[in-house]
Amino acid sequence: MNKGNKLYEGKAKIIYETNDKNLVIQHFKDDATAFNNLKKAKVEGKGVLNNRISEFILTNLSQSGIKTHFIKRLNMREQLIKKAEIFPIEFIVRNISTGSLTKRLGIPEGTVLETPLLEYCYKKDELNDPLISREHIYSFGWATENEIKTIDIMTLRINDILTGMFRAVGIKLVDFKIEYGKTWNKDREKNEIVLADEISPDTCRLWDAKTEKKLDKDRFRKDLGNIIQAYQEVARRLGIMPEETNISEVNFGKTIPIKFKKK
Ligand code: 5GP
Repeated sequence: MNKGNKLYEGKAKIIYETNDKNLVIQHFKDDATAFNNLKKAKVEGKGVLNNRISEFILTNLSQSGIKTHFIKRLNMREQLIKKAEIFPIEFIVRNISTGSLTKRLGIPEGTVLETPLLEYCYKKDELNDPLISREHIYSFGWATENEIKTIDIMTLRINDILTGMFRAVGIKLVDFKIEYGKTWNKDREKNEIVLADEISPDTCRLWDAKTEKKLDKDRFRKDLGNIIQAYQEVARRLGIMPEETNISEVNFGKTIPIKFKKK
């Protein structure tokens, strides 16, 4: 698979074209950003970990019948994915109140929600990804009612699968953001809706079940330190990283370097 021109560069990832018009390469950068780019840093090793964690999660979802864009991991930082037209919507699921829900509505931090809460945000950096209703989505043609119906069902199913997956390794899935796209079939018609982007500690809130220690990007947002150690902890618990690691793709200072188990 030949890597071609850069198609798009986002805050944490780059998309490259390939010699197959239906496939692209997703490259995970070490860049961390928060508060709509106001806070930026390089977190060495983050891209490698997110690539591997996202591969693990999307592969598991796919085995449970969720259609995803993921095809295979190519190397430490890159994966081959289906090219998709991404809906301009962030789909957020909340199981426990925190973050912008607590800020917006005053729901106390840590409140366990009776049923998962689905939210939609318009993907627009200039506007800080504002919260929108389904009616906004239909009015502006960002997705059809049928598409949202399909996506909502997929999203709640993903929440069930991931909640179980993390609970099994002592982690509470507090909330997360996912994105979807539409892929093209042989006749160049857009048809299938697939889960796209990534699912990683960058896009989820993950709390240790016992101590409620944060194992996600909030460590960066809130200057809590030990970001890479937290992401490594998630990888280790999911069984992706062995207990003993000894190579240095990255230099973490005192942190143990990354070595992944062979598949
Ligand atoms: P909140 O709305 O509370 O800031 O975020 C809710 C959840 O969605 C969190 O898990 C957060 O990480 C994720 N999320 C929301 N917006 C974004 C975004 O623009 N980028 C990333 N990486 N995650 C997001």
